[in-house]
This record gives sequence, C-alpha cells and structure tokens, in this order.
Amino acid sequence: MLLPTIARIELFHVAIPLPARFYPSWIPGFPQTENRFDLVKITTDDGVEGYSAGPALGRERAGLGDLLGPYLIGEGATDIALVQQRLREISYLGWRNWWVEPAFWDIKGKIAGKPVYELLGGKPCRVPLYASTGELKNPAARIEEAEARYAEGFRAIKLRVHDFDPAVDERHVIEVAKAVGHKMKIGVDVNQAWRVAVIADAPLWNLDRAKRFADVCAEVGVAWIEEPLPMDAYDDLTALTAYSRVPIAGGELHTQGLAEIRMMIARRCYRIFQPDAIFSGGIAQTIEISRLCREAGLLYTPHTWTNGIGFAVNLQLMAASGFAGEKELEYPINPPGWTVEARDGILESPFRHEKGSLEMPAAPGLGFTIDRKALRRHGKRFFVMDKKRLVWFSLRNRGLKVSMEMDRVRKARKAAGD
Ligand SMILES: [Mg+2]
Repeated sequence: MLLPTIARIELFHVAIPLPARFYPSWIPGFPQTENRFDLVKITTDDGVEGYSAGPALGRERAGLGDLLGPYLIGEGATDIALVQQRLREISYLGWRNWWVEPAFWDIKGKIAGKPVYELLGGKPCRVPLYASTGELKNPAARIEEAEARYAEGFRAIKLRVHDFDPAVDERHVIEVAKAVGHKMKIGVDVNQAWRVAVIADAPLWNLDRAKRFADVCAEVGVAWIEEPLPMDAYDDLTALTAYSRVPIAGGELHTQGLAEIRMMIARRCYRIFQPDAIFSGGIAQTIEISRLCREAGLLYTPHTWTNGIGFAVNLQLMAASGFAGEKELEYPINPPGWTVEARDGILESPFRHEKGSLEMPAAPGLGFTIDRKALRRHGKRFFVMDKKRLVWFSLRNRGLKVSMEMDRVRKARKAAGD
C-alpha cells in the first residue's frame, strides 16, 4: 500500500483577543491582550488534514516554512520517525520546533479512524483536571477564585506565588490552605524553571529558599510544588526532591526532549514530571517519557498551558499514558482574562470541563476540529508550499542545475528504498 504523502504545508499566525487583560505570573509585568500562536496545517495528497500549534510572541517564525517545506513535502505523512528526524535536523540550526510533530499524529489518527490516545494504546476514559490559575494575587482574591472553581466542580487547584519577600509567598499558601485545603487539593507553581525578567524583574530562588518553602507547604498539606528552581539546576533539584516532604514537580519546557528528561528521571530531579509535548520532543518522545516515569515509580502529568490545541495534544497523551486515574491534568483557566473561549478560540467545540473533569473525545486524530470562520477572523496565513511551489522555490533559490542535481540524488535514494 502506498503511504499518503505530505502534499501541502501551511502556517498561520493566530491572535485571539482576550476578553480582559491577563497578567501571566511567568512573565512578570506583561499585560497580555491576545492568545497568540502559530498554527501548522498539513494536507496529504488525498486531502487528510492535520493541525498543531506552538505559542508565539509575534512573527518570530516568519521564515520557518522555508525549512519545513523542502524538508517535508513529498515525504510520508504518517512516518513519525521521519518527521522526528527532520525536526531534529532543523534543530541543529538553533531552534526547536517539536510543536509541528503532533499534526502528523492528527493525520495518522484520522486515516486509522482512531483517536491518537488509542493509537498509543490508551483506553477511553474520563480525565480529572485541576484548575490552573495564571496570575499572582493576594490571598483574599485567591481564596475567592478557589471558591469559584470549587463551585464549578474542581477539587484541585494550582496557585502561583513568587514574591521578592519569601514571607509573602508563605502567608499566601498558609491562608489559602486554611480556607480551602480541607476540600481541595492545592498545588503551588513558583515559575522558577524558566525565569523571564524581560519587563518587570522576577525573583530568583535558590535551594535554601526552596527548602524553606517546601517545609511550610508540608505543614499545611500542599499536594505538589512546581518548578521551584531553574530547570537545569539538576543537582539542586535532586537534593530538593530528596529533602522535600511535598512532591516536587516540573519539566514542562525541556526542548531537548527525551534525552534530557531521561537523565533527569535517572537523577530523580522531580517526583512528578510534566513535559509538554509541544516543547519536549512531540508526542513520540513524550509518550516514551511517560513510560520511563511509570518504570521509575514516578508520576507523569503534562503541562498544557499554551492554547486549546496544545491542551488537546497533551490531553491525548494523558489518556494514552494511563496516568489519568492517578493524577489530575492541568486545565488553564483564569477569568476574566484567560477564558475557555479565548484559550480554544479557533476550535469548533472548546474543551469545556464538566465538574472538573473531561471525557476523552472519541473523534479520530487529536480530537478537535478547526473552526474555519474563526481561523479566518483571528489568523493570517504567512506560508504555503505544495509540490509545485516547492519546484519554484528550489529554482528561485538554487537555480536549475543545482535543483536538478539535488532532485537526482533524492530520486535515486527513493528508488533504492522502494
Ligand atoms: Mg508550571
């Protein structure tokens, strides 16, 4: 049987306006007004479409298509190993674009008529969620927020703290735990793994501060502490994980993927690993990471805070990994700025939780459909390449002789492989 091949690649900049300004704790001082990401759309020669998305600040990926097109057009659309190899080749140039890979799983699932989690050996299930907040707040406002999420059915919530004064953080956790700790599981994210100080300054923790904080959290029954140290402070992370009575969690942005996280698992840097497939090597590497966590007796639950498509990708992995019954999945929600509608703004059916959990979508592929009207409204296509355009691209960039020479080598390789 002939493999379907990649016939067309399109890239879009998407910017969905937020209903109110949102102040992400991970970029102190940044008034976010839009949910911005780049969307990749892959079409096979028989018209099957696959999508994925990667968060963006602006138009920094304007030239990415010039690599993706020539590297991938004409190749097998369901050949994940090959896609992984091409994205690895692109990464040698200094940037990692693993977020593109899930689009090929979307195609693979659609061709097989199965959701991706089933392709990966998972079973239909209901996934419990935790309400992931995104802003720094004072304790009174936080308690009000926690009560609102509780009323909606959530039984787990993640707070954000990172003041310059450790006492402020400690007071926040103690007060919130006192108010809702008897009825909600509480996690605390301190956003130290990938500190951003580009607008306002951001506090920088060290092992001593993290240990003191872990002690306070243990006393009030916090369920997990997230990213209390820089992501590459491997020795300190191992020391903290061994010391802390509260599980230490992290690992969302390791763009070296499986290789780096395998080493971190061996070194017991965290008790809960949270690689996000959008960053950490795509679905193929992240499912391997979840298996390594299982073997090592550690927990896996992915980071999901990018946009609705990133959430969908990681939701598939959560179900595929079998960890859905053991740990809640991150559900990004921080009204009035970060709402379901803004998060999932180009999806036909937004991922609305039901009483703090979600039934796995039965749809083939990644389980969402792009709302074309919404994409037209919020998105702008900045790249398209198909087989014909690739020929022109090559002629324009390399001339006839060089293009023909490259073509000869490729054809010989294909002929030898078939
Ligand atoms: Mg986090």
